[in-house]
Amino acid sequence: MTLSYSNETNGAWRTYLEQIDRVAPYLSHLSNYIDTLKRPKRALIVDVPIVMDDGTIQHFEGYRVQHNLSRGPGKGGIRFHPDVELNEVMALSAWMTIKTAVVNLPFGGAKGGVRVDPRKLSTRELERLTRRYTSEISSIIGPQKDIPAPDVGTNANIMAWMMDTYSTTEGHTITGVVTGKPVNLGGSLGRVKATGRGVYITGRHVAQKIGLDIPGARVAVQGFGNVGSEAALLFVEANAKVTHVQDHSGSIANAEGIDVVALIDYLKTHDGVAGFTGATAIDNEQFWEADIDILIPAALEGQITVERAEKLKARLVLEGANGPTYPDADDMLNKRGITIVPDVICNAGGVTVSYFEWVQDMASYFWSEEEINERLDKLLTKAMDDVWQSAAQHDCTLRTAAYILACERILIARSERGIFPG
Ligand code: GLU
Repeated sequence: MTLSYSNETNGAWRTYLEQIDRVAPYLSHLSNYIDTLKRPKRALIVDVPIVMDDGTIQHFEGYRVQHNLSRGPGKGGIRFHPDVELNEVMALSAWMTIKTAVVNLPFGGAKGGVRVDPRKLSTRELERLTRRYTSEISSIIGPQKDIPAPDVGTNANIMAWMMDTYSTTEGHTITGVVTGKPVNLGGSLGRVKATGRGVYITGRHVAQKIGLDIPGARVAVQGFGNVGSEAALLFVEANAKVTHVQDHSGSIANAEGIDVVALIDYLKTHDGVAGFTGATAIDNEQFWEADIDILIPAALEGQITVERAEKLKARLVLEGANGPTYPDADDMLNKRGITIVPDVICNAGGVTVSYFEWVQDMASYFWSEEEINERLDKLLTKAMDDVWQSAAQHDCTLRTAAYILACERILIARSERGIFPG
């Protein structure tokens, strides 16, 4: 049956559907089940009314989408952003299904969000919004059902409020209902830096395969939040140079290499990279034409258009963001011999340490940061290697190879479980 939400022509869900269409020919008999992946299992839209500090009442729209639960509980972040809408949350939840399966974590895929600009709310308003949203989605989340985590616009404090709201309603503390919590409340060491670390681990692995030396490599980073800044730091520690940075405030460049530590410091008191004195301001479109070796899109989806892909000089693209590349741009980059490490493996470090956090919460036994980083390195390197081998075996891109591995795992689970009621 045709679905109303699949008709949308240009959004993130469309990008995801095209990615699924590209993998179908590789799935032999499992492709009978492919429609499972083309629709979310469950989507909840909630009204989130809150009393603002000035006494007025405002309503916000919230979502939680569980795309697929064949391999375990739903897993995926909560986004607070003014552009959040159902179509986007559906795509983000689907990418979580693929991501957890590529790394072979025992989870399905889910995502949630509220259409709000969190920067325009006071701390008290943000807390009220988070608690009311949590209460509205509480019937479908839980440590065995669906486990939220941070994403764009949310952080450990917000996870603490979510955990507290859920626990208060249930009558006892349930730390495992969300991941990405503060370490004092059952959070995991290493979780905040895990996504950026994963970008570095997978990037290093693929750079070596394509004969690109990290020392001396010129790196451009789009988005300098949690993911972009940590990846930048690790590349600089490995003697690469971060020559270009772009965020919502503008673009900056320094051919000698930007002092990433100083930039992170600058961002503690400034709302964006614009105005940072250790680099020169450049035009936003110039960022995409820069002389670089590695591009790390670590902001939002839909950033690499075919026009930008035509001009890009990098040899390697590391997708720290979810869904940054349009399918036609993907084709253009491949045609031009530019290697892409796809989001579903490149930024999987975050959900991998979320899995470690969930396991630690279940056992009430916590690991050292060293142990966590070692396990993360081992798991991601193995997954990246599997994807690399699969691409060689099928003579396809790393994205299609990652989708082959993931879709096989999901659809085997689907077919073994059968269709209720049989
Ligand atoms: N929001 C992150 C992502 O897109 C992390 C999700 C999680 O830890 O569950 O992968």
